[in-house]
Amino acid sequence: MNRMIFGALATALLLAGCGQPPPPPAPQKFAVQPGELLHFVPVAEKLVALSFDDGPSDPCTRQLLEVLAREQVHATFFIIGANAEKHPGLLKELVAAGHAVGSHSYSHPRFDQSTPAQIREQIVRNDAVLEKLTGKTPVLMRPPFGLYGPQYFEICRETGHIIAGWSASASDWNPHTPEEISGALLDQLAPGAIFLLHDGKETNDGPHRVASVQAVAQLIPQVKARGYRFVTIPELQAAAVAPPAVFAGGAQLLGVQWPERTAASKGVAIRMHWQLPAAFVRSSAHVWVTLAGAGGPFKFDCGLPHGGDVWKETETLKVPPPAFQPGSYAMSIALSRGNRNWRHLPCSGAWTRESKAAAVPQPFVVAPNRTVEASP
Ligand SMILES: [Zn+2]
Repeated sequence: MNRMIFGALATALLLAGCGQPPPPPAPQKFAVQPGELLHFVPVAEKLVALSFDDGPSDPCTRQLLEVLAREQVHATFFIIGANAEKHPGLLKELVAAGHAVGSHSYSHPRFDQSTPAQIREQIVRNDAVLEKLTGKTPVLMRPPFGLYGPQYFEICRETGHIIAGWSASASDWNPHTPEEISGALLDQLAPGAIFLLHDGKETNDGPHRVASVQAVAQLIPQVKARGYRFVTIPELQAAAVAPPAVFAGGAQLLGVQWPERTAASKGVAIRMHWQLPAAFVRSSAHVWVTLAGAGGPFKFDCGLPHGGDVWKETETLKVPPPAFQPGSYAMSIALSRGNRNWRHLPCSGAWTRESKAAAVPQPFVVAPNRTVEASP
């Protein structure tokens, strides 16, 4: 008898579980907490953030401040405490001009070669320097060289810091002309992008970043001409909207870029910016991209970004020539886990590729979750 009752109950529960799946929850505005990485922000407007590491330094920080003032642009400066102690006037000047300040450690060591105690000391000491000189404790913390160290996420969670990454860089720490730096960044322009540049070189003064300053002077008018507005990283966070797609397991797709094709022989690249929970097993997941439109449809696949350091959350899918023509495409992105069992693709959208600029994706539509059984 007991067994019969149990069986009936189990059947009822099973039937209840077979009904219509509950509707997916309304997408939440994108936000990160202390101990999490911020490298790209989904926004509904054409906003972009400039960020500068390793200052303040002489003479490049002053030269940069002049350019930014002339263009009426606010940026975010990731400050090295030892440099701030050398140039407190420059730090106060940039704060007074309305720029945002983040921490870039006290003396710029490699965190991947530091102990947790040393990392914590670098963060706490720099907080004290910046608090003394600016009156505020920074919330954003960008690790030197963009490298994580042991227990870095835990330490930042405890000290209340958001880990500040970037979505676009021009390797301006290597020798490049201003044109190369501004051109590389322009290719990576997208709403919500965070650009990495330098106004200093670790704890050294000197004219190391003159090319970066000149690149910024060239870049700003070109970005403005494309309808963009420059904001600080905290302003970018405040303008966040829901991510275009949230997948099973908590993976968020923050943005998709389709940069300008520079040469027909090189094809095009689709850049995807991801935000993955710490517990997400990246190696078991796979991304499938389908494009339908002029000359299509096309289907491509790639893995998720490997993570590991602040700049490694963007996956670039290289699409071979000669397939694409300018025009409108519908796109869908699927995230599968394991070999056979596809889990959902709650994301689809379309955009028009602009003739002379990086494509600006229209907001993606988050469709109801569904399981896709077919293989690609
Ligand atoms: Zn640095």
